[in-house]
Amino acid sequence: MVKVIDAHCDLLDKMALHPEMDFRQDSVYADVSYPRLQRAGMVLQCFAVYLSDRQRITFERLLEGFDLFHQKIAVHNNVQFVRTKQDLESAAAMGRLGAMLTLEGADGLEGSMVYLRTAFYLGVRMMGLTWNQSNWAADGVMEPRKGGLTVKGKQLVRECNKLGLILDVSHLGEKGFWELIELSTKPLAASHSNAQSVCSHPRNLTDDQIKALIVQGGIAGLTFVPWFVKTSEPGVKDILTHIDHICGLGGVRHVGFGSDFDGIDYHIPGLEHPAHYERLANELHKRYTAEEAEGFLSGNWHRFFMENLPDDDGD
Ligand SMILES: [Zn+2]
Repeated sequence: MVKVIDAHCDLLDKMALHPEMDFRQDSVYADVSYPRLQRAGMVLQCFAVYLSDRQRITFERLLEGFDLFHQKIAVHNNVQFVRTKQDLESAAAMGRLGAMLTLEGADGLEGSMVYLRTAFYLGVRMMGLTWNQSNWAADGVMEPRKGGLTVKGKQLVRECNKLGLILDVSHLGEKGFWELIELSTKPLAASHSNAQSVCSHPRNLTDDQIKALIVQGGIAGLTFVPWFVKTSEPGVKDILTHIDHICGLGGVRHVGFGSDFDGIDYHIPGLEHPAHYERLANELHKRYTAEEAEGFLSGNWHRFFMENLPDDDGD
C-alpha cells in the first residue's frame, strides 16, 4: 500500500462555510474527506486554518478554526492528532490517519506572542508568516512594495524556533524568505509551492530559494494548483517535471507534496481529490526507484517532521 503525506489542504475553510459537512463522508462541497484520504494511503494530512477576507481577522476567528479542527476532524477514533514525533509514529503503528493543525498566515495572531504560544498549546505545529498580502509580521509574495520581516515578525520567528513550531515559507515574499533563512535556527518548509524555473509564477520558488532550503535541511511540498504546475493544459505528469528539476538541484530527499486541495476551484484533470494520489504514485513508480518514489510520497516529509516536531513531554 502506498503511503502519502500531504502538507497542505484547506478543508477547514470549506467546513467553516458549510457547518453540516461530515469529514467521515464524501461531500459535494469538498475535495478532502476521510474515505478519500484512506483510499490515498494518507498517513499524515496537514489541515490549515486560513482567515479569508470575508472574515474579521482576529484571534477569536483563529480559535473558531482550531475548534473546528478538534470538533470535526481530530475527534474521530481513526484519526490521530499529531503534535509530536511520538504521535506521528503511533498514527502509523495504529493504522490511523495522522492529522496536523497548521496556520496559513500569522494575521490572526494580532502581533501577540501570547496568542502565538496559545496557538502552539492548542496544537498548531506549522505556520506560514503571511498569505499573499502584507500583515504585521511580513510582506506576502503579491505585496507590491516587496518588504521583508517586521520587527514583530522577527520576534515571531525567534519564538517559533524556541517552541518548535515549524515555519512555512509558502506565500512569503522573497525578501522575507532570505531574512528568514538568515534568522531561523531551524529548517524551513514550503508546504505548497513549486519550482519557478519550471513554471513561472511568483508563488513558486526560485532555484536559489530551493537550494537554500535544501542546504539547511528544509523541504518543499509540491502543489497541484494547475497554474503553479504548468501555464497551459497541466497534467499529472507535469508535476514530475518539478520533481526532476528539484532533484537536479540536489533535492531528492527534500521534496514532497502539499496538494492545496479545497484551496482551489480548478484542478489538474485526473488529480481532483486525495484518492487520485494513486495516479501520481503510478507515474512516480514508472520514472523513479521505489525508494525515491516512496520518499516523494511520504518518506521525505516523514523524516522532516521526525527531525523537527517536538518530543512528547513523557507524561
Ligand atoms: Zn495557500
